[in-house]
Amino acid sequence: MNAWERGGVRAPHKPLLVLLALGRLQRREARLLEYASLDEPLARLLRTFGPRRKSYHPEYPFWYLRNDLVWEVPDASSYTLKQGGGSPPRSELLARDARAGFTVEAFRLLDADPTLLREVTQLLLDEHFPESIHDDILAAVGLDLGGWTRRARRDPEFRAAVLQAYSRTCAVCGFDGHLSSGPFGLDAAHVKWKQAGGPDEVSNGIAMCVLHHRAFDRGAFTIEGDLRLSISADLVGSTIHALFLDLHGKSIRPPHAQKDFVRAEYLEWHRQEVFLQPARGS
Ligand SMILES: [Zn+2]
Repeated sequence: MNAWERGGVRAPHKPLLVLLALGRLQRREARLLEYASLDEPLARLLRTFGPRRKSYHPEYPFWYLRNDLVWEVPDASSYTLKQGGGSPPRSELLARDARAGFTVEAFRLLDADPTLLREVTQLLLDEHFPESIHDDILAAVGLDLGGWTRRARRDPEFRAAVLQAYSRTCAVCGFDGHLSSGPFGLDAAHVKWKQAGGPDEVSNGIAMCVLHHRAFDRGAFTIEGDLRLSISADLVGSTIHALFLDLHGKSIRPPHAQKDFVRAEYLEWHRQEVFLQPARGS
């Protein structure tokens, strides 16, 4: 799926639709799915796991996934395409009770082979989303991998170098818990996701505790060019003051060495493509 072809601009439409359809397949729903049953869940997935946009278009992947040869829209030629666009309007898909789904061949293969289904799922997750949010996505699309997981390839040098640069301390909250065996609950977060071409370099990494890492990858906060934290107005909860709200506008703990500072272009990417805008109080 050519979802990354626009150079780092996230386009999670197709992978999220396929994951949603795989969840339906796993629950033994019919091969062809009604657009009406996908419209709202897919829009919610796009809002939750995609970049913030002015509007969301679940009808696009429903239609354009045909180009990837595993997806079929029966009687596609009978639909009226929007002027200047290549897809029918959402209203027509709803009014005509449009259906689409995996091709017969793809459906049979996936249905007959649970291992293939898991591998396709894992591949889609690895290619489009950081590992820290895979479980959230699986839960949202109702896919159960039954504890099966193929560990993504990691770069242990990246992790070690980033933790070292930040003195094994969460740059956001200062957590530095150690056991005698070493630190725990601490990650090296990529600022620009690997999936978007972000490199395994210290200048693209920040040490974060597991909670802040996950919140960062979900867009609950971002880091401005001057290293100050911006917390999303989207984030609510009754006990989030100390861990999030009080940190709004404060600076992260920078790395020791100037050379290890995160590059501005990676922070900018995160702000544009991951952060759930707007920030609090703006
Ligand atoms: Zn933290």
